[in-house]
Amino acid sequence: MEESNTWDGKVATLLNAFESFIEQDAESLLVKQAVRKLSELDATGIPPSQADFTRWVEEVLQDEVIPAGRFQRNGPTVVNLMAARGVPFKIVIIPGMVEKSFPPLIGQDAILLDQERKVLNRVLGGKEKEPLPLKAEGRLEEERLLFRLAIGAAREKLILSFPRIEIGTGRERLPSSFLLAAVKALTGKSIDFQESEISTEEPVPLKLAGQTVNLRGRIDRIDLTKDGKKARVRDYKSGNKLGKENDFQGGRTLQLPLYLLAAKQLLENLHRGIQVESAEYYFLKEKKKSRHIKFDFSALEAKETELQEILKTIAGSIEEGVFIAAPDYQCDYCDFEMICGNWTPMLFDRKAKDPRVKRYLEMRTGEKEDTGEESEG
Ligand code: SF4
Repeated sequence: MEESNTWDGKVATLLNAFESFIEQDAESLLVKQAVRKLSELDATGIPPSQADFTRWVEEVLQDEVIPAGRFQRNGPTVVNLMAARGVPFKIVIIPGMVEKSFPPLIGQDAILLDQERKVLNRVLGGKEKEPLPLKAEGRLEEERLLFRLAIGAAREKLILSFPRIEIGTGRERLPSSFLLAAVKALTGKSIDFQESEISTEEPVPLKLAGQTVNLRGRIDRIDLTKDGKKARVRDYKSGNKLGKENDFQGGRTLQLPLYLLAAKQLLENLHRGIQVESAEYYFLKEKKKSRHIKFDFSALEAKETELQEILKTIAGSIEEGVFIAAPDYQCDYCDFEMICGNWTPMLFDRKAKDPRVKRYLEMRTGEKEDTGEESEG
C-alpha cells in the first residue's frame, strides 16, 4: 500500500486485502463503501502519506454507523425513540429517564416566543396553533407521542429506568415526569422512587454500648441477591478518597459500620436471617480499581468491643456536655465550616484542657496521624 501515492490506489490495495481476509456480507459491504469514499480525495491533488491515509480510514469508519447483527435476528437494536417509532419489539428498554433530560429541556424560539405566536395566530386566523407552529408546546407533545409509541412497541416486556445519581458529580437525579406518569398509568399507583420497602421516617433504634442509639440517615443503595439471603450496602462519595478498610479511625469514620447495623436490622424484617456482607464507600472521582473502601460485617463483629467503647465515649461526652468540636484538616472539606465559625479553634483550646474530654480526645488523636482528605457525602 505504501507504494501507491494516490488515495484511490491506497483504497484499492486496502480493499483487496480486506476482501481476501474478511467474509463478504452486508456489514463488510458498508465498511467498503465507507473506505471507498476516500478515493474522492484525489480531487484535492494532495497525495496521502501512509499516516494520513490510516488516520482517515479510522475516521470514516468511526463516522459510519455500521450495525452489528441483523435487525430482530441476532442481538438488540440500539436506536433513539425517533428511529424506533412504529416498530414492534419483544422487549423495550428505555434507560436514562431523568428529569430535564428525558424529555430534554425544550427551549422557545429565540425570535418569536410561543406566547407571541399565539397572539399572531389569533389575529391571522382565529386559531391558537396555526398558521405559526408553537415551538416549545408543540415539542413537548411530540416527545410525549414518541414516548407513547415506544412504550406501545413493547410486545412482552417494558423496562423503564433512571440513574439515581449523576456519574462524575455524584449529584442526585430525579425521575422524569414521563416515567412517573407511565408508572401511574400502568400500575394505577403513584410511586415515590425515593422510598423503598425498608424506608422509614422513624430513626432506627440500635442497641449499642448498653443503650439505644437512635440512628437517622440515608443509605444510597442496598443490593440484594435474588433469593434475599445476602445484601451489600453502598454509599456514593463525590469527594476525595477517605477512610481505611475495616477501620473506625478513632470514631471519625463510623458511617459504614452503622449503616451495616441499620441495614441488617431493617432487612431482617423482610428477609429473616439475611447476611449483610459489607458496606462500602464508592468514590466516583477515583480510577475504577481504587474506587471502593469496604467495611465487612465479619470485621465489624470482630471489632465489636472497640465499636462499643467508641460509642460509649461519644455518648458519654454528649451526656456530659463536653462533646467538643475538634477542628483539624477535615474542616477544609466540611459543609458546616461556616456554622462552626473562626472561633472553633479558640473554643477547642479552652475546652481541651477539661479532664472530662480527655478520653474523647485520646480516642480521636490516636488516629490523627492518618490524614486524608474529607469526602462530601
Ligand atoms: S468545621 Fe466544625 S463541624 Fe466541620 S469538621 Fe471542623 S470542627 Fe467539625
